[in-house]
Amino acid sequence: MRTIHEAPREIPVVAEADVVVCGGGPGGFPAAIAAARHGAKTLLIERYGFLGGLATAGLVSPVLGHTASGVGSNASNTPIVEGILREITERMHALDGAPEWAATLTRWGIEFDAEALKIVLDELLQEAGVELLLHTVITDVVMDGDRILAVVVENKSGRQAVAGKLFIDATGDADIAARAGAPTTKGRPFDGRGESMGSFFHLAGYAPLSEERKQELREQIAHEMEDGRFRFYNAGFFGTNAHHKDHSAANMTRAAGDSTDVGDMTRAELNVRRDIWELLRYLRANVPEFEDAYVQQTSPQVGPRESRQVVGPYRLSGEDVTQGRKFDDGIARGSWWVDIHCPLGNTYPVHLCVASCPKGEECPFWAAEHERMLDRDELYPPQGDWYDIPYRSLLSVAVPNLLASGRCISATHEGMAGARVMGTCIAIGQAAGTAAALALAANTPLAEVDVQRLRQMLRDDGQLV
Ligand SMILES: Cc1cc2nc3c(=O)[nH]c(=O)nc-3n(C[C@H](O)[C@H](O)[C@H](O)COP(=O)(O)OP(=O)(O)OC[C@H]3O[C@@H](n4cnc5c(N)ncnc54)[C@H](O)[C@@H]3O)c2cc1C
Repeated sequence: MRTIHEAPREIPVVAEADVVVCGGGPGGFPAAIAAARHGAKTLLIERYGFLGGLATAGLVSPVLGHTASGVGSNASNTPIVEGILREITERMHALDGAPEWAATLTRWGIEFDAEALKIVLDELLQEAGVELLLHTVITDVVMDGDRILAVVVENKSGRQAVAGKLFIDATGDADIAARAGAPTTKGRPFDGRGESMGSFFHLAGYAPLSEERKQELREQIAHEMEDGRFRFYNAGFFGTNAHHKDHSAANMTRAAGDSTDVGDMTRAELNVRRDIWELLRYLRANVPEFEDAYVQQTSPQVGPRESRQVVGPYRLSGEDVTQGRKFDDGIARGSWWVDIHCPLGNTYPVHLCVASCPKGEECPFWAAEHERMLDRDELYPPQGDWYDIPYRSLLSVAVPNLLASGRCISATHEGMAGARVMGTCIAIGQAAGTAAALALAANTPLAEVDVQRLRQMLRDDGQLV
């Protein structure tokens, strides 16, 4: 590839903080709130003009993983994540943007309105005293030996640096660790492919549908999918995953590719939008109730389910998930199962990669794994149980002043297929921010944080650990 020389230059250090949180999604916003509440001077950098990550920029809803494991459809009502997740749910409820907390425990996830989440996060972060740099992309890091001295950012004001004592990588894609040269892994061990991306969209303007009619339409779309007309991974185009039910909020699109490769990301955006409009055209022409339907909104970005993982002293594994493993240094709880959306975009109509792929024999991953994960129920933690996220999975083996949060913590492909959901990421984020503040207050390296004290602080803050 042709290269070009970029001249070195002096750039202004526009801010300095104790804790610099990189990314404002489910792994980032709770980290910033927790660090600031515990007295650390905290700054959060986010590339969009709003917070929430895929919860807002991906229109992803509901928040999953807030209750104990429900194998198959046996929902469990036992909460396993509270703390900041409960607080934002209650704040959203006050704005009619989510059900009340008690009601969420009887559902499989917390359905919410992305606009309510945006304003709740604006308010909570400002109340906690977090300094915000929105519309700012982190492009690089400046190292001092093995420590990060500053992150380099780009925004409308130009190229700048933000210095810090501790950094939390909540970019989803471990951008900070990768730029710092720390080891990261990506996807399946043998081909590096991560789960396929996807995107939520909202349809409106259609006539009410009875349950019977929905079933009929689901079968009709499934039939069209079998014929190769649509490339969705399920037929639930009238899914109402968001809190308000005057529109559909469907989670059915699929785009295989590497979300750290801009070519794949570009193709994914174009393909997913085309698929949504192909569906709308079909519905308008063939389903009378959808004659006047319209795309109310597509998400600002196609969503990566999995990309880079920071390598820490411990990698959360698929077995940790399915065994409901507990750790002495557990700082968050997860209950979502080994829910792999085929990295090749193959499985139809389900997303049970290892358990029931119809194209299994062609796939080396299936060949290697399916015998130990024979059916869907074996992919779950035991009924009513959960697994711990160990603090060691938030550390980097290479960069002592870096913590990972959200979906880029240290985990295997199968481990991350469980821990990636937003309830778990928010719990991890709260722990990461609290750990950073504790390390600063106790003047200890991140790797030597007193984890039992950290767990007590989390409990005192309403978290379940
Ligand atoms: C199609 C799809 C469906 C899903 N369904 C569900 C579901 O139903 N329920 C559920 O709970 N979870 C679901 N998930 C998973 C969940 O949405 C994510 O795993 C979760 O949002 C991860 O949180 P995060 O903060 O780690 O990453 P993200 O949500 O990706 O947030 C990362 C943040 O960092 C910012 N950022 C990234 N790089 C930079 C940079 N270089 N500079 C500045 N800012 C940066 C981004 O803009 C973003 O705000 C789904 C995911 C997808 C893709």
